[in-house]
Amino acid sequence: MFTRLYLHIPFCRRKCPYCAFVSQESTTADLDGYAHTLLAEMGLAAHAFRAERPLESVYFGGGTPSLIAPPLIDRILKRAGELFGLDREAEITLEANPGTVDRERLAAFRSAGVNRLSLGVQSFHDPLLKALGRIHSAVAAREAFLAARAAGFTNIGIDLIHALPGQTIGMWRSELEQALALGPEHISVYGLTVEEGTPFALRYGAESPFLPDEDLAVAMFEEADDVLTAAGYEHYEIANYALPGRRSAHNSGYWHRDGYLGLGCGAHSFLREGYGVRFGNPADLDAYAGTIAQGRLPHGAELSLTRQDAMAEFMFLGLRMADGIGADGFRQEFGIGLDETFEAALAKLTAMGLLEPAGNRVRLTRRGMLLSNQVFAHFL
Ligand code: SF4
Repeated sequence: MFTRLYLHIPFCRRKCPYCAFVSQESTTADLDGYAHTLLAEMGLAAHAFRAERPLESVYFGGGTPSLIAPPLIDRILKRAGELFGLDREAEITLEANPGTVDRERLAAFRSAGVNRLSLGVQSFHDPLLKALGRIHSAVAAREAFLAARAAGFTNIGIDLIHALPGQTIGMWRSELEQALALGPEHISVYGLTVEEGTPFALRYGAESPFLPDEDLAVAMFEEADDVLTAAGYEHYEIANYALPGRRSAHNSGYWHRDGYLGLGCGAHSFLREGYGVRFGNPADLDAYAGTIAQGRLPHGAELSLTRQDAMAEFMFLGLRMADGIGADGFRQEFGIGLDETFEAALAKLTAMGLLEPAGNRVRLTRRGMLLSNQVFAHFL
């Protein structure tokens, strides 16, 4: 049972050295062939899984979904509508790399039904973009944003990364100001994490003097909070800011534990059955496509969550949201009070200044957002 659909596009024009996502460099033939594999998987999935009601959101993530030809995006969306139903008001997001789009292509995505664009800007500073191995420049990022507006997108998100090698607090403030000058509806700010197995991990060990130290990384997080909230954006999730009414419905669904079906190489699903069922597709493209070619769904073993698992998830996903979690919602879901279930953890984290009560809810403090992993560990 699900109400949201995620489609993973595991291709990029060039692999960035910091990236640990499931993605690889591709040719046009790879992309077209993959889109057809995705359509075949969707057909198989429709026999196995039922949508609770017409889809409330569809999200093309990657990788670089903007590399897929707009007519194929159109076909995928039409097929999703035929197989699962698509709500008239559904949020349909496509992640776009600024180096892969122009006004014409963006207008074609818009005509296909995409109504929200997530633009992977990352930085407006060319030397930092170069260090990240990105294929676009700051000018190209701005042009892509303006082209998206001209193509009719009224809901655009910009992604930025902080705690980059050599980045100062002044440079970060300038990134935020340049993003604000464009007037996006949504801004995501992520701290760089040096992922194991990436070229960045070899270049920058954990203690690298080229990376901002912890104090500076904290200052950058706080700077984003100050600058963006002063500009009218709601800090609605640890890494996400939105103008009123412009929160990402799809991503909010993850934090609310809505069911979603994930299709594509490396995609994950969560179905609302019992306390929840999770499973994922192989990250290996040949294994993924080969299984579908045999007429079988490619996902691995299904993991049925226990009540205890579901309670922990409810806490660490729900607490990511600035609204926090409600005692009523917890009781409704599990038939027991939040206080009696997590009394010791809630008391300890509140005393540490990481959680705070807000009416009948409990939420992270600003310090709690900075130390969120430490908070979440208390509920596992
Ligand atoms: S464009 Fe995004 S998904 Fe692709 S390699 Fe770079 S960071 Fe990874």
